[in-house]
Amino acid sequence: MQGLVTKSTGSWYSVAAENGEHYECRIKGKLRIKGIVSTNPVAVGDIVTFELEPDQETGVISKIEPRKNYIIRKSINLSKQAHIIAANMDQAFLVVTLASPRTSLGFIDRFLVTAEAYHIPAILIFNKLDLFSDEGLDILEDFMSIYENIGYACYAVSANDGFNIEIIENLLKDKTTLFSGHSGVGKSSLINRIIPDIAIKTGEISDWSDSGKHTTTFAEMYNLPFGGKLIDTPGIRELGIFDIDKKQLAHYFPEFRERMHDCKFNNCVHINEPGCAVLKALDEGEIEPSRYDSYLSIYNGNETRN
Ligand code: GDP
Ligand code: ZN
Repeated sequence: MQGLVTKSTGSWYSVAAENGEHYECRIKGKLRIKGIVSTNPVAVGDIVTFELEPDQETGVISKIEPRKNYIIRKSINLSKQAHIIAANMDQAFLVVTLASPRTSLGFIDRFLVTAEAYHIPAILIFNKLDLFSDEGLDILEDFMSIYENIGYACYAVSANDGFNIEIIENLLKDKTTLFSGHSGVGKSSLINRIIPDIAIKTGEISDWSDSGKHTTTFAEMYNLPFGGKLIDTPGIRELGIFDIDKKQLAHYFPEFRERMHDCKFNNCVHINEPGCAVLKALDEGEIEPSRYDSYLSIYNGNETRN
């Protein structure tokens, strides 16, 4: 039987089968996907083939269909291993906010680089609009224009009072969307507003407890009441960019990508080369300094925890 993986808990996977039933499935023996070293071979969003066990309630996954795309989280303990969060998305939403706690531009940029690298269209959702003062709204406009100018759609919403939620629902309709965001930005509150039936707990802390100890968390897929699917990533702090080739990094900044063919050297990495079109655009104010800082920070492998 074939089905769609809607939840993973590490050893068991919930699979929504073609016949409308849900089955808890396991993997027996080795099931490897070429090219990815992963702590979990099956991800939410995977289409799998499974055989029912004699109990007719559980199953064994025997095959994973090729993925259109996938996204990984950074593996904290095993630097060479990835943990696949989700597969086969149409788009990824990053929920951010400028208030309690403000999302840093560096965090946003790392997310966008990840989405570019995995070919997943990304949209930024600025939440908690109800909290912003006039001054806050000015900053919000600045933040949004940084990203709109390079082609990312941005929306300001409030999970509290429902402002602009309908726009978000229209974007989600009939698509499979990954929802990501730093803990505290209101991702759970937003999802609860969009899917009132599921009641995800709000106010939970992230996958790093105060002691810094890592607890494993997994994605979960929900059906949207108006059509489409949403993949929540509870407690997943940051998606992975560790397997991105440094020399390719500039390709994942759309405003660099469109200029770099004018660089004098075709192996230019846009740091101190003469005749660099990216540096020229930075000098002329056409590239945001914060974006260039993020580029350098990722290039140099600085992992800021914010
Ligand atoms: P998550 O960690 O991203 O899932 O965030 P939660 O949904 O748990 O929300 C974190 C805190 O922010 C909670 O206290 C929410 O009540 C609050 N919150 C969420 N959305 C909004 C909003 O739009 N406006 C305001 N004022 N507070 C919000
Ligand atoms: Zn260059």
